[in-house]
Amino acid sequence: MAQNYYQKEIETMPVEEIKKLQSEKLKKQVKHVYENVAYYRDLMDKKGVKPEDINGIEDLHKLPFLSKADLREAYPYGLLAKPLKDCVRIHSTSGTTGKRVVAFYTQNDVDLWEDCCARAIVAAGGTNEDVCQVAYGYGLFTGGAGLHGGSHKVGCLTLPMSSGFTERQIQFMNDLSATILCCTPSYAAYIAESLKEMGYTPDQIPLKAGIFGAEPWTEEMRRGIEKDLGIKAYDIYGLTETSGPGVAFECCEQTGMHVNEDHFLAEIIDPDTGEVLPEGEKGELVFTALDKEAFPLLRYRTRDICVLSRKKCSCGRTLIKMAKPMGRTDDMLIIRGVNVFPSQIETVLLNDGYQPNYQIIVDRVGNNDTFDINVEMNPEQFTDTVSGITALEKALANSMKVMLGINPAVHLVPPKSITRSEGKAVRVIDKRKLH
Ligand code: ADP
Ligand code: ZN
Repeated sequence: MAQNYYQKEIETMPVEEIKKLQSEKLKKQVKHVYENVAYYRDLMDKKGVKPEDINGIEDLHKLPFLSKADLREAYPYGLLAKPLKDCVRIHSTSGTTGKRVVAFYTQNDVDLWEDCCARAIVAAGGTNEDVCQVAYGYGLFTGGAGLHGGSHKVGCLTLPMSSGFTERQIQFMNDLSATILCCTPSYAAYIAESLKEMGYTPDQIPLKAGIFGAEPWTEEMRRGIEKDLGIKAYDIYGLTETSGPGVAFECCEQTGMHVNEDHFLAEIIDPDTGEVLPEGEKGELVFTALDKEAFPLLRYRTRDICVLSRKKCSCGRTLIKMAKPMGRTDDMLIIRGVNVFPSQIETVLLNDGYQPNYQIIVDRVGNNDTFDINVEMNPEQFTDTVSGITALEKALANSMKVMLGINPAVHLVPPKSITRSEGKAVRVIDKRKLH
């Protein structure tokens, strides 16, 4: 397939040149932050590091980390590096794991962020002939604004739908022949399910590609959405703290997401020791924003667990790739002493022929953890006998045991009884934290 790039020179730049570019930008950025952000200057002073000590990316490890706790402590203005009069926008995290944090943008920050999203759209095959339906939430959440801006830059006809009102989404998708859908994967699955119920077959749906991210989703879920919508589904990654979606994006190879390395320097560290791990090892992803002016975080610990790879990509891009994040360090459940990621449960469900509609409920009775998974049965199972259902539950619990090493209580619940998500799906209810 002929490859299109949005910014070819950067996207295909030889690795040594990218590293040189990163080194130059890093030196400037550290100086900018040290001079303008008292909070980070204190962290550097405590560590005994001065801007002069940072002469290139090989010195990155000398800088202190920033964490979400720092962002919460410094809320709202403590990490701002530009006067407010130079800022034009605020966004906020979804608050998936606690108090929301806010991020600030200059006009230049918005521009570069939209370029990142435009690279993602072009990598998914988007051109100015496309109709791009943006069904990420608009507002404080970064998903809507980011892809909206990217879509404009590519010159697509942009449909600013925001999330929700699924019937209207489908009506506009069909009436206006949307070719690219941007939303969370759980919302894409919901839209696909609704289309199916309305009697559409994949070949009657005008879409050709989807750009889905903002939450973890498995490879199995990708294949399901691709089949149901008759599209190719591309992953996109980002977080509010680093602007939003578009920090990394997938190309046609679909084997990980290219990090926009000219703007973001990626590292993998051991989450327990903070030690930098070599390429190919699994650990916590850390980003340093090289161009951001208003909210330039250095060595920000994302808590997302993943792997980086410089393996040559068939798309021609030289940008390093990050694997699909497995989940966050704080998404990981420890149940009866065993580490469990919701993504593992999703993999088992889809492999066993179920839909990705499930909820994990963990509680503690006395000193024992309870571990329940509610899974929607498929419509044809709904008419099964009680003993038939029990056998299905047992079979699924067994598959879970093989994957996880511990035995959950699986409950098959009626079709459509688990609330559908229009944004980020809530998969886990951990009642132990609520006590
Ligand atoms: P919150 O941290 O409150 O959810 P954000 O809306 O900024 O706030 O979400 C960023 C987080 O979403 C990332 O740190 C990551 O955990 C998750 N995320 C974003 N894109 C992806 C993706 N493609 N795959 C897996 N997780 C993702
Ligand atoms: Zn590629």
